[in-house]
This record gives sequence, C-alpha cells and structure tokens, in this order.
Amino acid sequence: MSGLSGRLQNLVTRIARAASDAGRDPAGIRLLAVSKTWPAEAVREAASAGQHAFGENYVQEGVAKVEALADLKLEWHFIGPLQSNKTRPVANSFAWVHSIDRLKIAQRLSEQRDVFLPPLQVCIQVNVSGEESKSGVSPAELPDLAKTVAELPRLKLRGLMTIPEPTSDVALQRSRFAMLRQLMDGLRADGLDLDTLSMGMSDDLEAAIAEGSTMVRVGTAIFGARNYAS
Ligand SMILES: *Cc1c(COP(=O)(O)O)cnc(C)c1O
Repeated sequence: MSGLSGRLQNLVTRIARAASDAGRDPAGIRLLAVSKTWPAEAVREAASAGQHAFGENYVQEGVAKVEALADLKLEWHFIGPLQSNKTRPVANSFAWVHSIDRLKIAQRLSEQRDVFLPPLQVCIQVNVSGEESKSGVSPAELPDLAKTVAELPRLKLRGLMTIPEPTSDVALQRSRFAMLRQLMDGLRADGLDLDTLSMGMSDDLEAAIAEGSTMVRVGTAIFGARNYAS
C-alpha cells in the first residue's frame, strides 16, 4: 500500500471510530479530501484508492485540476474565499461551494451556473469564533442571508460551513461546532430544508463528528503537510 492510500485508510478508520464514539452511523459522514497545493497526480492516486470528493481553495489551481482530471468522475467542492470577479469559473467547474459569505457572491453564482448543469450545491460559511476569525457571516446575519440564498434559482442551499480558530482545547472545539449545529437547527425550524454541516479538519474532526458534522474536510491527514512555497 502506498503512503497515500494507507493514510486514507487510516482516516476512514478514524472517522468510523469517532462516529461510533458519538453513537452515529459512519455512513452519515462524508469525507472531502482537500487537495489544495497538491498536484493532479496526487488527486488521481487518492481517486484510485477510492476517494470521490475533493476540495479546492484557489480558483485558478482548482479549475486547472478539474480540467486535468476530467476523465475521472470526481465531485469537486470549492471551499476557499471567493471574490466576485472570480465566480464564473467556480459556478461551472464545481458541484459544491462551501464558502458563501455574502449575497452578491450567491447571486452571481446563481446567474452564472449553466442551465444544463444541476443546481450548484452551496453552504453558507459562518464565523462562530467571533472577532478572531474574519471569514464567514456572523450568526446574527445568517438567517436573512440563508432565506435569500435559498430562493436563488440555480443554487440549492444545503447547509452551513465553519472554520473555527485553531485550538487544542477540545471543549472549545466542541462548543464552536455545537454553535453551528444549533444555527442549522434554528434555520430548519424556520422551514429551510438543510442537511449538511461542513465542519471538522485533520486536527479537530473528532469534535466535529461528536457535534453532528456530516462532511469533514481533510487535507494534511491524507496528503501530508502542505508546502505553500513550491
Ligand atoms: C485547507 C483546508 C482544510 C483542510 O485542512 P487540514 O488541516 O489540512 O485537514 C479544510 N477546510 C478548508 C476550508 C481549508 O482551507
């Protein structure tokens, strides 16, 4: 077994154990492999080891990989910050966008999504850590944005995403993820049809699964440490 397929196998086991500790069915937790900074060949290797869904953070790099791997039937998720002048390639190369944080971006994605493609699946990114982290809407702004995004014709609002501040304090990790879950429960009580909590990464996926994550986004534990300089 290569390094990558061994790490992927270990991760699947780790997710299953976290699910079992939380009394959850592991089938309710999807694994998104975050391939940012890694070449298309690494994605191809993960795909041949059975991984189907991949996440990218940077528009140019992500679109290039989608095109280089078009022979494989992969599901691509855009998970990085998105500027309004770069929405068009994202609207048509990806199946999901996790990082909606303002209406203008959502409106552009909806207008630009090809009518022959299925609706773009989206999550709203929420800032659950307060002032320390800048990405995402505040919990106070979330309900209005969610209701408006849910009405856009070429998007399907699936749920919420968060990237809490890094901490090794498991109780703090859990409280941030619990907040995201409660926010989604509130939106569902208001009538929105949501099923996705995109939360948990290499260092905090156990806490995220304990609090109800349905999609963990994992890079380092699959591909190894990233080298941004190269
Ligand atoms: C890079 C990244 C990840 C993966 O982080 P790891 O710690 O490498 O698992 C997950 N989500 C987002 C939004 C990221 O940018």
